[in-house]
Amino acid sequence: MQTQRLSMSEDDTEMALDCLNRLLKERQVLRDKRANLQTGKSLSQRTRAQRNRVSLELIVLEGALSDACTAYAKASCRKLSSQLLRLPRELRDPIYAHLWKKPQGERTELSDLVEILSPRDMQGWKSDCSGPPCSCTDHLPHYADVNFMGRQVVFEVLESCNQYENESRDSCYVRATELEQFMYADAFHVGVTRTDLFRGMGLTIEFGNLVYGDEESYASEKRMVEEKLHAVVNLLMEFQDQYDRNIIFDIEHEHDTPVNLSQMLEIIRPAFLHLRDAGANMWLDYANPSSKIEWDFDESTFGWDVEEWEDERIDLGMRELRLLDHPDDRLDYYGLPEHTTEEEFFAVQGELQTRRELAWTAIMQDLYSVHETDSSDADPST
Ligand SMILES: [Zn+2]
Repeated sequence: MQTQRLSMSEDDTEMALDCLNRLLKERQVLRDKRANLQTGKSLSQRTRAQRNRVSLELIVLEGALSDACTAYAKASCRKLSSQLLRLPRELRDPIYAHLWKKPQGERTELSDLVEILSPRDMQGWKSDCSGPPCSCTDHLPHYADVNFMGRQVVFEVLESCNQYENESRDSCYVRATELEQFMYADAFHVGVTRTDLFRGMGLTIEFGNLVYGDEESYASEKRMVEEKLHAVVNLLMEFQDQYDRNIIFDIEHEHDTPVNLSQMLEIIRPAFLHLRDAGANMWLDYANPSSKIEWDFDESTFGWDVEEWEDERIDLGMRELRLLDHPDDRLDYYGLPEHTTEEEFFAVQGELQTRRELAWTAIMQDLYSVHETDSSDADPST
């Protein structure tokens, strides 16, 4: 039975290759034909019509070629799978391991897989898919695509990946609003979630799209935004044993006045602290290009008392000023026109400084629970 299936799969590969070669030859014939029709300087109407017809045939052929390539790739992957599955598991595992192990400094498939799985780049699979054959795993590399390698090999490949994921310094990026789907969807169609796969890998959770720049639009969507934030917090509160995992809360937005920044920080604070207690290295990356802000708060921030927050804020202001010693630099930096007077310049700088201080204070008070009037709760974990 097994041999019969195998020889069928070999037949499939041969047939798919024949088809591919035939189409490649056809394409060459059409290309030559078109080139011959293009040589004359002034083409007759008839020749022009002929040439257009050939161009059209070529376009159709390209589509057929692409399908033939996929069919050949599927057939040869199936053949490879059946060959692999004839080996005992203890020989298959070292073969899978070649995907993840490379000499120092070289990129492994693991990095590529992490990148491909970050929803920032794609979200091809459909949550209502009933399984292969389907197109929702098209974005995956063939070795992890059930439509190419079959269920068992993909499952084993992912199991093997799981053993090496801790060696990776890569980080998955995910929008907060897509976190649940990202973590628990059956993205490979073999019953392995991304959470199963990347338990210890760095995670960057992006909240920037939930920051609003004007009161009116925030007021109309406030309830929806808060529901989304609470759902993310509830999800994160279930995370246990995050020992040494790097988790970044990333808030980047373009609004001059982030009207709900404080509310957002207050809502997400319990999750931020819970993850830290669960052993994760918690970072906050806060960026607002329109206010010239790019701040990374690392683990050490948890230890700052109110004086240290104040010192860091002053340092921050000084660093910015030193950067802007030259008058032309500061004109560029603030995007001001050439004829800007000193007075106008200081007004702009003053406004930016106010915005920066507001954001700084919101982060200090609403995320890290450090309040100017009371330094006794400087460490929010106590
Ligand atoms: Zn599918």
